[in-house]
Amino acid sequence: MAPPADYHVHLLGHGEGRLDLAYLQEYVLKARRAGLVELGLAEHDEFLGLLDGAFLARAGAEFAPLRLRLGLEVSWRPGREREIRAMTARLPFDYVIGSVHDLDGWPFDHPDFVDGYAAWDVDDLYRRYFALVAQAAASRLFDVIGHLDLIKVFGYRSRRPVVSLAEEALAAIKEAGVAVEVNTAGLFKPAGEMYPAQDLLAACFARDIPITFGSDAHRPEEVGRELARAAEMARRVGYRRCIRFCRRQSQAVAF
Ligand code: ZN
Ligand code: FE
Ligand code: FE
Ligand code: ZN
Repeated sequence: MAPPADYHVHLLGHGEGRLDLAYLQEYVLKARRAGLVELGLAEHDEFLGLLDGAFLARAGAEFAPLRLRLGLEVSWRPGREREIRAMTARLPFDYVIGSVHDLDGWPFDHPDFVDGYAAWDVDDLYRRYFALVAQAAASRLFDVIGHLDLIKVFGYRSRRPVVSLAEEALAAIKEAGVAVEVNTAGLFKPAGEMYPAQDLLAACFARDIPITFGSDAHRPEEVGRELARAAEMARRVGYRRCIRFCRRQSQAVAF
């Protein structure tokens, strides 16, 4: 069964999308077909300036009863705290996703920069990555941590179990009351599995960390993809509830 929401959707993609009702309707049709009751737009923060509250209000009315939610996916980098606080105050966001996409200026999830992996011992790389995730959670600027183990995107696997390398990040997430998303985009990357992997999600469940679901769609046809499988994995590790957000207040719902 599909979860109730896809909370990680990029209408603007990396600049190739557009904020118009006809284009959004393609996303909405896909969401309805997937059986979703909520669709959360979470644009990359560099496109914050293109978001338009009036458009979003019109879209919300147009596509009811599907509930449109307004999120934002912010790239966490140390030193951005004030900037992030200002960004997230600009619109009435329902939730904010904090994602680590780069390490000290290296965009490790970008295919043009895969060379960078050669410079690292892979376990050290995972430790550095998860230290940044821990910082992101501890900043308390975010409601959800995006693609928790994104560092596996190109298939570079740690020698030690990921759960042990992520220990500090999980503790910080728990401590800050942040959620983790089950993100299906990794299935379509060299990693070939969801973010997070099942054992890492099980470790989240053991700590009673709440979850959301997201496809990380950058195009209409990707909306909701494999979310039924994501829900299945979440149920397998014990989850029966996910959370939804409205104006940064969360509420648990069965899935
Ligand atoms: Zn993206
Ligand atoms: Fe991301
Ligand atoms: Fe994304
Ligand atoms: Zn993402």
